[in-house]
Amino acid sequence: MIIGIDLGTTNSLAAVWEDGEARIVPNALGEALTPSVVGLDDTGEVLVGMAARERLLTHPELTAAAFKRQMGSDRGFHLGKRKFRPEELSSLVLRALKADAEAWLGEEVKEAVVSVPAYFNDAQRKATKIAGQLAGLAVERLINEPTAAALAYGLHRRDVESKFLIFDLGGGTFDVSLLELFEGIMEVQASGGDNFLGGEDFVDQLVGAFMERVGREAGIGEEDLEGKVLQALRDQAERAKREITKHEAGTLHLTWREQALSWNVDETIFAELCEPLLARLAAPIERALRDARIPAGELDEVVLVGGATRMPMVRKMVARMFGRLPAVHLNPDQAIALGAAVQAGLKARDGALDEVVMTDVCPYTLGTEIAEAFGKGHVRDGFFMPVIERNTTIPASRVERVSTVQNYQSEVAIKIFQGESRQVKDNIFLGEIKLRVPPRPAGEEAMDIRFTYDINGLLEVEATVLSTERTERLVIEQNPGVLSPEEIEKRLEALAKLKIHPREQTENRTALARAERLYEERLGELRHFLGEQIAQFEAVLAYQDPREIEEARDTLTELLNEIEGLPYL
Ligand code: AMP
Repeated sequence: MIIGIDLGTTNSLAAVWEDGEARIVPNALGEALTPSVVGLDDTGEVLVGMAARERLLTHPELTAAAFKRQMGSDRGFHLGKRKFRPEELSSLVLRALKADAEAWLGEEVKEAVVSVPAYFNDAQRKATKIAGQLAGLAVERLINEPTAAALAYGLHRRDVESKFLIFDLGGGTFDVSLLELFEGIMEVQASGGDNFLGGEDFVDQLVGAFMERVGREAGIGEEDLEGKVLQALRDQAERAKREITKHEAGTLHLTWREQALSWNVDETIFAELCEPLLARLAAPIERALRDARIPAGELDEVVLVGGATRMPMVRKMVARMFGRLPAVHLNPDQAIALGAAVQAGLKARDGALDEVVMTDVCPYTLGTEIAEAFGKGHVRDGFFMPVIERNTTIPASRVERVSTVQNYQSEVAIKIFQGESRQVKDNIFLGEIKLRVPPRPAGEEAMDIRFTYDINGLLEVEATVLSTERTERLVIEQNPGVLSPEEIEKRLEALAKLKIHPREQTENRTALARAERLYEERLGELRHFLGEQIAQFEAVLAYQDPREIEEARDTLTELLNEIEGLPYL
């Protein structure tokens, strides 16, 4: 069985293709979404998901979140004394999803189709595949998130030529893609977005405005708030944001040095605060429409995915921009995972699926450095020659011919870059090929440089000297952010030694982590009461009677729900 996985910045989830439809796999808590958070317990056991998320506040030094943003870099995350790479943390999330799917399906899962933002570059895509490998999952196919959303909406089944725009605003990233369906072939015409814009930025706006309007009046600056209080305020802002979506207004509460502060925000104020963020959404959309040469009026469907598209201000902005109501009938949190499962079904050649050909685009321009003639007899190097241009349909293979620029040079260095700038120094260096050439006068030796970009966004460059037919090949791999096969082996060994918190204990551990968070957040009598409840629950856990544990957990959860609903911390 191949599963589909949406490995998100804030939340991740898995889905499977079964009985002719894509279905979400519930996690150990019975929920669709698993927070993309990993932590170590005080005993050194690994916690993933909600239990880890609860401990983000109480044990920040043992917990990591939002590591998807660092995929493809060698930035480490410290959990206590241990250091993890972003793909290792992602692998622990994937592993939890794999275990959930296996428990639900009752069979082993060895392969997954994992979604990535269309904007992910080569190193980020490779890191995602490695995360799968570290989790014991073969990831033969990555799928761009907007492409997955289109599959989930069944847009590939239309029988007339159609054009779609997929607008995906998640927790941390924004992706926009233009897809075209023609004679049963779904083609991505353009993609764009912003790797640093998502629902969390809307929360930041609320926190900032709260401090400016309410905090300042009470004599508090953001620097006065210790980490835990600030995190509690962020949680309040997150809750208020969802309240505004549901009831057009929400309230943020903060207790600070016995001052009880609160602020009521309605949809209008919130939308005003977020005006700059809404404006930032427009530019990538306009660029993608221009790149694909599709006027907004020609779109047959605008699809919204990502939890943050639930916000009415986002829906209104999209409706205004396109003069039409967007499609929102699938749960925006689940569309990508469902689409990845559709793709997994396609890959497994499930008979229930019509044959669909999917193509994608290369999200950025790939090319080499060249020297340009500059006046008589002078050459200046450092210029970028695009070979595969951004938004070219992939798989793609393009050749450019270049010639020597110096008299009697015996070697040519072909430097490969990714980016949109005319000067290579402003683009990202990917790798280099060195080629021996017969020493002859400048311009008399020529080389063909072939770039091949495959369906998973991996790049191979091949350079051939025409006179000698000598060829050098490079698969872009030596990125500092990408682990080598030997390093992967080492990481696998290290990960195998980690103790993973038992899945069947997830519900208990999550309830306990939540109670501990509330204990730290609250003060006075309530805190004392919470302390007693935690001790009681721990005592029941120690006794190991499953029925009693379940009862005690239900009672504790009800209590926590009640306490969480109280306005002040
Ligand atoms: P995703 O990465 O697609 O799971 O999206 C997560 C983002 O959606 C987070 O920033 C959430 O705060 C946001 N989100 C989820 N539900 C709502 C809601 N009801 N109203 C506003 N934002 C929401």
